[in-house]
Amino acid sequence: MFAGPVTFVKGVVAMSGLPPADRLEVCFAGRSNVGKSSLINALTGRKTLARASNTPGRTQEVNYFALGESRYMTDLPGYGYAEAPVATVRKWQELLKSYLSGRQTLRRAFVLIDARHGVKAVDEDILKLLDRSAVTFQCVLTKVDKINRADREAVIEQVKAALAKHPAAYPEIVVTSSEKGDGIETLRAIIATLE
Ligand code: GDP
Repeated sequence: MFAGPVTFVKGVVAMSGLPPADRLEVCFAGRSNVGKSSLINALTGRKTLARASNTPGRTQEVNYFALGESRYMTDLPGYGYAEAPVATVRKWQELLKSYLSGRQTLRRAFVLIDARHGVKAVDEDILKLLDRSAVTFQCVLTKVDKINRADREAVIEQVKAALAKHPAAYPEIVVTSSEKGDGIETLRAIIATLE
């Protein structure tokens, strides 16, 4: 799958806690409940690597995973919690900005979009931040097993139209279902072949 075992490295709460930037890195971002934990678990073949549905307001961490020896994958906390305390949100936004603009080895951000909902205003905020940080991002549609083929085509068109406004967007959209396994191998291959 990846060259070597997939392991949890650490949860990072400040830039000073980042592991040495000694290998290529990708990150995963998405609205809470988008299916990020499920996707990370499907991708790594580990059932409980990423904890499903993080509790709102809990310590916001960048979770580091090693994909074998040559890549890091980071799991960014789900955004869009209305209930999160303002101070928590602000602290997290600062870390996120510093991380996205300051991590030299970060090669690509995967932004997860629920196939039933498409790109929402709350997603646009992170897409703009990725543009400003000059981090190439790629959209990953999640939970496609929940919609029919016609709706699938429609949401892909909506996402493509949204991406056209973003200079940092990578045009190819990855269509996935963690439940059925669609797109998982494609996503693995993308991560494995990034240089
Ligand atoms: P997170 O908050 O983004 O980490 O989302 P989770 O991975 O915890 O998923 C949120 C909910 O969506 C859970 O009830 C999952 O079982 C469900 N879910 C996640 N991925 C899929 C999928 O591919 N298909 C279906 N049908 N449900 C999914």
